[in-house]
Amino acid sequence: MNASTKSAVVVGAGFGGLALAIRLQAAGVQTTLLEKRDKPGGRAYVYEDEGFVFDAGPTVITDPTAIVELFTAAGRRMEDYVKLLPVTPFYRLCWEDGSHFDYADDQEALDRQIHARNPADVAGYRRFLAYSQAVFAEGYLKLGAVPFLSFRDMIAAGPQLARLQAWRSVYGMVSRFIEDEQLRQAFSFHSLLVGGNPFATSSIYTLIHALERRWGVWFPQGGTGALVDGLVRLFQDIGGRFELNAPVAQIETAGARAIGVRLADGRFIGADAVASNADVVNTYAALLGQHPRGVEQGAALRKKRFSNSLFVLYFGLNHHHAQLRHHTVCFGPRYRGLIDEIFRGQSLSDDFSLYLHAPCVTDPSLAPPGCGSHYVLAPVPHLGNAPIDWTVEGPRYRDRIFDYLEERYMPGLRSQLVTSRMFTPLDFRDELNAHHGSAFSLEPILTQSAWFRPHNRDAVLPNLYLVGAGTHPGAGVPGVIGSAKATAGLMLEGVMP
Ligand SMILES: Cc1cc2nc3c(=O)[nH]c(=O)nc-3n(C[C@H](O)[C@H](O)[C@H](O)COP(=O)(O)OP(=O)(O)OC[C@H]3O[C@@H](n4cnc5c(N)ncnc54)[C@H](O)[C@@H]3O)c2cc1C
Repeated sequence: MNASTKSAVVVGAGFGGLALAIRLQAAGVQTTLLEKRDKPGGRAYVYEDEGFVFDAGPTVITDPTAIVELFTAAGRRMEDYVKLLPVTPFYRLCWEDGSHFDYADDQEALDRQIHARNPADVAGYRRFLAYSQAVFAEGYLKLGAVPFLSFRDMIAAGPQLARLQAWRSVYGMVSRFIEDEQLRQAFSFHSLLVGGNPFATSSIYTLIHALERRWGVWFPQGGTGALVDGLVRLFQDIGGRFELNAPVAQIETAGARAIGVRLADGRFIGADAVASNADVVNTYAALLGQHPRGVEQGAALRKKRFSNSLFVLYFGLNHHHAQLRHHTVCFGPRYRGLIDEIFRGQSLSDDFSLYLHAPCVTDPSLAPPGCGSHYVLAPVPHLGNAPIDWTVEGPRYRDRIFDYLEERYMPGLRSQLVTSRMFTPLDFRDELNAHHGSAFSLEPILTQSAWFRPHNRDAVLPNLYLVGAGTHPGAGVPGVIGSAKATAGLMLEGVMP
């Protein structure tokens, strides 16, 4: 069968949808990418206020090889579309006792800082790194972009999972190697970047540490939005059709096949295959709600555990805080207790831990001269656990966070404030159709990973596919780009059913 006679529709232009659309178009499948919002990127949307550019979501760009691979698949060079700048240190981790830890790809500097906290942890860290490298080789390099469609695939991975003690949690595993509590936090918080509770998520997620050490942490020149724009341009340059402001209302079916999509404006776009990058619950319960498969799978997915949500505050200052690093994690007074409340709590905790983004440290062009663009986020419970009225709580929470930052990290913040905006769990729900307003879709626990996660190809409608955070392997930019590779592989097998 010839790919060029085939067509596909991809619903949603997040990183997963974009990466899939590029792979399909590059393979010769005539691909239409439909995005409901006025800009592409999904969680990687961009706000522009009063000369400040705010990347809405992902800022820690890892695994540049996966991005290069997309350009190569399309016969292009990434350098012609976007430039990735190295970020050093990867992160600065700060605690309320005033101490900090610069996590960088510099073994000598790491050893020195670890030794200053607890000499025994220098050797412990080496053993932890070796462990995370072994997990990375198995979990990311071998299985990260391979679809798990049958339980046999899961059984085949079983011995490796057992050898790597995947039943342990990230924090539990880190604690086997490292004694110092703050260092345990420093090497276990990473799973939070993809919606995983370090105390519940499989130790497989320690692979993020090895991934960062192997390929570094990067930031696209012009912001993450410039990477999104580069991918859109790439897709269009190779002949892909892309529409913004094009919400899909329904995935249309005939019997057990998808035949295309119906847009909210009534138009029908037919295709040989449909792939959804939209939220998985929304895909089944709403977009496929007229089909028994949609009703059944939507109900099944609603019973799953969902990742936390986030409260995100974007703000521009008429001052550049040169004391900041590009990425700062501001640990609050509690670690485990707070994380328990974020994942299971029914209300907002009194304390918080924050991630602070200061991209002008790497790329001053994101703000007017001498100014600074920033965002700060606090992980918070999703709306299914804590039905908070964020229209009331949001402004209060914003003020508490500004006070905290001003007191501890950014003196003078309030008097320097030019502009600010919030994105709350209600926005994740309403703008992104995210179930419970979850920021990362299904929680990445072992029983919701690999074969247990919604499959890249639907089990009933053989030409309906998923891509993005809700399918295998899961959230995070490398994760969803990996999901696109797995899904594209299935779609191009024989070329599409
Ligand atoms: C604040 C924040 C910070 C993050 N930081 C990082 C980080 O530093 N590094 C990292 O690797 N990951 C990070 N992540 C996670 C990462 O951003 C996400 O996991 C990833 O971007 C999700 O991509 P996705 O392909 O699943 O699609 P999404 O980004 O969820 O996009 C889905 C798209 O589908 C569209 N859509 C939905 N329904 C329809 C419809 N009916 N019709 C048409 N279009 C529709 C939506 O509008 C959206 O554009 C962060 C996430 C957040 C929220």
